[in-house]
Amino acid sequence: MNDFIPPAKPIIGDEERAAVDAVLRSGMVAQGPQVKAFEDEFSAALVAGRECVAVNSGTAGLHLGLLAAGIGPGDEVIVPSFTFAATGNSVALTGATPVFVDIEPDYFCLDPKAVAAAITDRTAAILPVHLYGHPFDAPALRKLADERGVRLFEDAAQAHGASLNGQQVGTFGDFAMFSLYPTKNMTSGEGGMVSATPEIAHRVRLLRNQGMERQYANELVGFNARMTDIHAAIGRVQLGKVGGWTEQRQANAAYLNEHLAGLDGVTTPPVAPGGVHVYHQYTIRVAEDRDRIVTALREEWAVGSGVYYPIPNHRLESLAKFAPGLELPETEKAAAEVISLPVHPSLSEADLERIATAVAAVVKAGA
Ligand SMILES: *Cc1c(COP(=O)(O)O)cnc(C)c1O
Repeated sequence: MNDFIPPAKPIIGDEERAAVDAVLRSGMVAQGPQVKAFEDEFSAALVAGRECVAVNSGTAGLHLGLLAAGIGPGDEVIVPSFTFAATGNSVALTGATPVFVDIEPDYFCLDPKAVAAAITDRTAAILPVHLYGHPFDAPALRKLADERGVRLFEDAAQAHGASLNGQQVGTFGDFAMFSLYPTKNMTSGEGGMVSATPEIAHRVRLLRNQGMERQYANELVGFNARMTDIHAAIGRVQLGKVGGWTEQRQANAAYLNEHLAGLDGVTTPPVAPGGVHVYHQYTIRVAEDRDRIVTALREEWAVGSGVYYPIPNHRLESLAKFAPGLELPETEKAAAEVISLPVHPSLSEADLERIATAVAAVVKAGA
């Protein structure tokens, strides 16, 4: 039996270990100079110099970004249902109402036409997701947001380094959040980075630290959502590596695209004109039999895969109360058809060959 190919594999090397050790030896481990340096370096590398604020998770970044932008009870915020639950959760946690809207079928991101139809007098903002590392249609959504007087935010949890028409994700909305969870394209252990307008960034800084910037002069009721210098030290090392890893993900995706092209019943992921996809996930659609295919890949070929996401958020026990009777046909279809194949930078040529061979064999076996 071949070694199992995992669907994701965080890469943590000697440099990360050395950076952590240096922080531990310094005796200063809470938020300090490493966090500040990480914010500045992330800003320069990934969001064109926009102000960045590090927090202890991506979810905290979304929550604090929304609060800092003034979102709260009485507001509606338009979100996709086809995403990780943190997107809708963060809206609900502010007391606002998440309004779930359908996706377009090509890139699995919010459909601007469906968003336009869902805007009401209470809509305060749109929070789309750059799903799987593919940029959402930011120009269309920005235009719509401006025309209708609502704000645009970004869930860029999966999209470090992605861009559209030469503009980096994380620079389109009033604020954006990047996750630094271990399986994301880069990690700090746990963590999140918020890029934002100066006004929102300032309020996120306050909310991150009990509402104070100056010690014991608290201006707001805030949280403790600080990142530690230990985590920031890991993140700084990873920031130096993420560009190379992204190129490897893109090369792996190109291999899979080439070898799965023309396979009956399989749709490989397209990229929008002008888009740079960073392949947090490499997600195909299969016309039928999805769950059988996932099982056969694992049991017959030792190829891991993932289904992101099997239950649309508007059907989750936690969030369904916001969407009574709602039907989102493209979301439901995607939830039944998607399979994310391994695309991470540690794959060998032999791994890629096995993945492509396995998918072809397993799909044909069911035909
Ligand atoms: C991972 C993820 C989050 C949450 O980030 P955490 O760092 O795990 O809190 C939010 N939205 C999306 C789309 C994600 O993939």
